[in-house]
Amino acid sequence: MASNRSLLVLPGDGIGAEAMAEIRRVIGWLETNRSLSFDLDEDLVGGCSIDAHGVPVTDAVMDKAMAVDAVLLGAVGGPKWDDVDFSIRPEQGLLRLRKEMELFANLRPAVCFEALADASSLKRDVVAGLDIMIVRELTGGVYFGEPRGITDLPDGQRQGVNTQVYTTEEIRRVCRVAFDIAKARDSRVTSAEKANVMESGILWREEAQWVHDNEYQDVELSHMYADNCAMQLVRWPKQFDVIVTDNLFGDILSDAAAMLTGSLGMLPSASLGGTDENGKRKAMYEPVHGSAPDIAGQNKANPIASIMSFAMALRYSFDLGDEADLVEKAVENVLASGYRTGDIMQPGMTDVSTTGMGDAILAALDNLAA
Ligand code: NAD
Repeated sequence: MASNRSLLVLPGDGIGAEAMAEIRRVIGWLETNRSLSFDLDEDLVGGCSIDAHGVPVTDAVMDKAMAVDAVLLGAVGGPKWDDVDFSIRPEQGLLRLRKEMELFANLRPAVCFEALADASSLKRDVVAGLDIMIVRELTGGVYFGEPRGITDLPDGQRQGVNTQVYTTEEIRRVCRVAFDIAKARDSRVTSAEKANVMESGILWREEAQWVHDNEYQDVELSHMYADNCAMQLVRWPKQFDVIVTDNLFGDILSDAAAMLTGSLGMLPSASLGGTDENGKRKAMYEPVHGSAPDIAGQNKANPIASIMSFAMALRYSFDLGDEADLVEKAVENVLASGYRTGDIMQPGMTDVSTTGMGDAILAALDNLAA
């Protein structure tokens, strides 16, 4: 019988396939142990698609991505495709997916597991138990605004221009995502901008406040200048619950927050679009890391970022919060038991491979379900 949960799996290049294989094992566990079913389809994106079809993503794959409930992406790129024409570089496949699916809200959790707190560059008490969510606007702002470019000036100098531009609706829709997420957490949103020096920041602050006052009075909203937010993130990050901010500030703040928690191999993300008439959102879930060509094919990659991305899919695309909690708890228990892939290895811990980490997570799921 066809399930009503459709997933398109796009492993991509390098360690993408290895990490995705571990997600499939977790999906298999949920199907066997939680009586859930998923319709899985798998296809190409990135360098492997260039090799097979001459483009980083085909129209046929785009059609599939537009039709499913959620896309699970591995990673794209690698030295083999470094010299292909810019217009068909592997990353263009990702950009096309994000653009045509209109994924305007990028969610980057920064969670610091107790067991990894000593691996952070900050003191243990500052990061242990940290659990914050950064919601970054992804399709507008200064990375896309016009006019843009580099021009020659009459006096012989050159001038570079980019334009920070936001409309009411662009701000409101990403703020709604942040408020919705906060409702399922600690009900606090901090909106970050530079209203002190930028008109687009004044508009951002006013529209965030409008969404709060008209639609989400039950969630606490505070405003913070983005530079202060960067300072507060490294001073006392646990003061935050959900941070919502624009494309440029979100790019920087989410990377800063990510590093509070340690390795690239641990960081999941989700990109969400608008809701259709049935309340369904287009969505893509992917680890923050790239294809790691230096360790690809060696069974060394940490699959946790990918598995945690799948947990986000359970929570945000399938309304399976309990199952998401279960997967996240299994990861936490495995780390507490001392299992480590190379990227997060610490003295005295047990070094495991990609599949070894998958085994440990499945065993932890079994224990939790027992
Ligand atoms: P990267 O994230 O692939 O790797 C950076 C370093 O972190 C490497 O030493 C790698 O071994 C390590 N690392 C990353 N993920 C890991 C994991 N899960 N487990 C263990 N170690 C891990 O970044 P890079 O080296 O700058 O880029 C490599 C390729 O990936 C490039 O072609 C780049 O364009 C591409 N890339 C793709 C994405 C994406 O698909 N979203 C993101 C970033 C980079």
